[in-house]
Amino acid sequence: MRDPIPCGVVRDSCRSPEVELRRLALPLRRPFRTAHGSVEVRELILVRVVVAGSEGWGECAALPEPGYSNEDVGSAWAALRDELVPALRAAAGRPSPEAAVPSAARNRHPMAAASLEMALLDAELRAAGRSFAAYLGSTREWVEAGVALGRPGSVGELLDQVAEAVDEGYRRIKLKVHPGWDVEPVRAVRERFGDDLVLQVDANGAYGHGDAAHLSRLDPFALAMIEQPLPAPSLREHAELARRLKTPICLDESITSAAIAAEAVSSGAAAVINVKPGHMGGLREACRAHDQCVRLGAPAWVGGMLEAGLARAANTALASLDGFTLPGDLAPPDRYLAIDIAAPLERQGALVRVPQAPGIGATVVPSAVEAVTTEVVTA
Ligand code: MG
Repeated sequence: MRDPIPCGVVRDSCRSPEVELRRLALPLRRPFRTAHGSVEVRELILVRVVVAGSEGWGECAALPEPGYSNEDVGSAWAALRDELVPALRAAAGRPSPEAAVPSAARNRHPMAAASLEMALLDAELRAAGRSFAAYLGSTREWVEAGVALGRPGSVGELLDQVAEAVDEGYRRIKLKVHPGWDVEPVRAVRERFGDDLVLQVDANGAYGHGDAAHLSRLDPFALAMIEQPLPAPSLREHAELARRLKTPICLDESITSAAIAAEAVSSGAAAVINVKPGHMGGLREACRAHDQCVRLGAPAWVGGMLEAGLARAANTALASLDGFTLPGDLAPPDRYLAIDIAAPLERQGALVRVPQAPGIGATVVPSAVEAVTTEVVTA
């Protein structure tokens, strides 16, 4: 088990942390459509803390609108401003980022809580001169990234987008599917790009219990997995569906904690787990989910939430843990964001270098943050 952070900076400084909350608006290169809806501007929240002279940054995974989960930018903003930051102040002198984010608030607002935890962890690791990857004890220097494509307007547009990603060196492509947009686009991609392409689909819960026979029509295409075919949480229904499909089921929206990840695997609801730190309340819980997957022998990977470069760097470091055996949604944000807020990570084809600088993994560019900020609150 990895060690607690041997650093007293946050313990000493939680007596008077400076906390700044920012709302950002980052334009996307193209709209990103899923079964939950469409995103054209990635609004998101940044958390900046200064504890004992050490700065830390956190990025909130909440999307502009609810759909993926109940949390959205507006609710996460209110939770941070009105609940989590005041609780942090009330926790003066508490020993760790984890203790400074109460579990009750974490359960209600996991993405908001995760962003505050990330900022505190970043500050603490920077003060200790340690990288997140070193803290995790991981030794991998590079991790493999896959590309997740939003639903395009046509099969032709889809094929163009897959070709673009393949030309960039990516070997694992994820397509969004929903009723009326599944078998034909998958067939078209398989026919055009062959069996060597690692292809998987994500339904974001768009199918119902009566769709098993239809979904089995995807079996001949040798998909690596189908992600979240049914709405969350529905583990029992996913286990029933899994018995009727050859394609392995991966769960994402359903996986809100390490315990649920373990239950999903044990019950047969999921053969593969998509680990999203924001969705499960933070990087520490994501590490626990990883450990559960290793214990149960289930393949796991790190998912994406249209992050900016801060959270994607943290996710890249997280993905260097040995149990993340499958490529994650870790393609650098310049694939989908027209403007980013952090220095890009090094990429060679499908491989992204694990960040090693002290802190969570990202080098935030303050002038870029300023340029896309729409609101600032000093809490
Ligand atoms: Mg997903």
